[in-house]
Amino acid sequence: MARVYVLYTGGTIGCVANAEGALAPVPGAEFERLVLAMPGLSDHGVRGYDGLGWTMGWFDRTLDSSNMTPADWVAIAERLLSIYDQYDGFVVLHGTDSMAYSASALSFLLPGLSKPVVFSGSQVPLSFTLSDAPANLVGAIVAAGTLPVPEVSVYFNTRLLRGNRSSKIDANRFAGFDSPNFPPLATIGSVVARNEPYWLPMPGADVSLAEAENRAKRLAALALLPAALAEFSVVMLWLHPGIRASTVSAMLTGTSPAAKGAVLLAFGEGNGPTDPDFLGALSAGVAAGVVLMDNTQVRRGAVLPGAYATGLGAIGAIGAYDMTPEASYAKLVCLFADGLDATAVKAAMLVPRAGELTVIGA
Ligand code: ASP
Repeated sequence: MARVYVLYTGGTIGCVANAEGALAPVPGAEFERLVLAMPGLSDHGVRGYDGLGWTMGWFDRTLDSSNMTPADWVAIAERLLSIYDQYDGFVVLHGTDSMAYSASALSFLLPGLSKPVVFSGSQVPLSFTLSDAPANLVGAIVAAGTLPVPEVSVYFNTRLLRGNRSSKIDANRFAGFDSPNFPPLATIGSVVARNEPYWLPMPGADVSLAEAENRAKRLAALALLPAALAEFSVVMLWLHPGIRASTVSAMLTGTSPAAKGAVLLAFGEGNGPTDPDFLGALSAGVAAGVVLMDNTQVRRGAVLPGAYATGLGAIGAIGAYDMTPEASYAKLVCLFADGLDATAVKAAMLVPRAGELTVIGA
């Protein structure tokens, strides 16, 4: 019997229209009633999958994922870890808007993961008839219960994607997610196609969350994070033609609490203006201790540090290679929350923790 725990956090999948016609997610108990009304999912089973059972849990607050914060990521990680030994796999139902950030963060918050954690949601509510929600929900439960992928993934529109490689790429269509720099981990259709060579390996016993001792250590570490998160900022700065030095200064040295990290969404292979004022503002941020990631605003391909004279490596930004901006942001937040200093964070950013990047030339 494979047991799957489904954590409903909110998002479009659980929305109904209010009196004004705007969508808002319903509370957990109401959502569970909706799911139990689906013919194939009543009785907490999945018709056609004998021996697969699901249990639903939720938080007191249901959230549109635009309201998710890093503290919510920690709450999700704590919930999953506290019931880890009772289930074979986990589904996190989540709004699509910030799902790629949360899935990335969970991959960093749960090192040593030995069971699947599958994020999913939908573009159209479950309560609507023409919706992608039933297929995504059932597919996510089946993936979590039958595919032993020891990592955090996103299941959307038939594809299981690595969570920290995923991005929301369409605001409306059912094909809402992609992992442009990494192949799908599996595809679910009339047959299930596993792409096992791309799955992360099972963690060793020294780090595996299958071990009670490691879970206890991780839970103790997670308990410290909400207070730590309140002490710093990480910002994301989308470069644009004509960007002013004062804009850069405001973001790198003008936030409260002070920024410890910044994800620069640079042009192309990691380029930006060579205007001395702009570079001076970035350098002032570096001098103030801000760790700068040189990411690209382009969805596919990699930053190639040093390729161009306009590359941002010269002022000390770290080339992010093919890491998504969402993963870069979540990784910076998680590393600083864990108490690492700037030097340690800089080194850790280029060491893959959960399959989130390929360092070209390494
Ligand atoms: N605004 C919604 C959310 O992210 C969108 C969705 O779930 O598709 O919660």
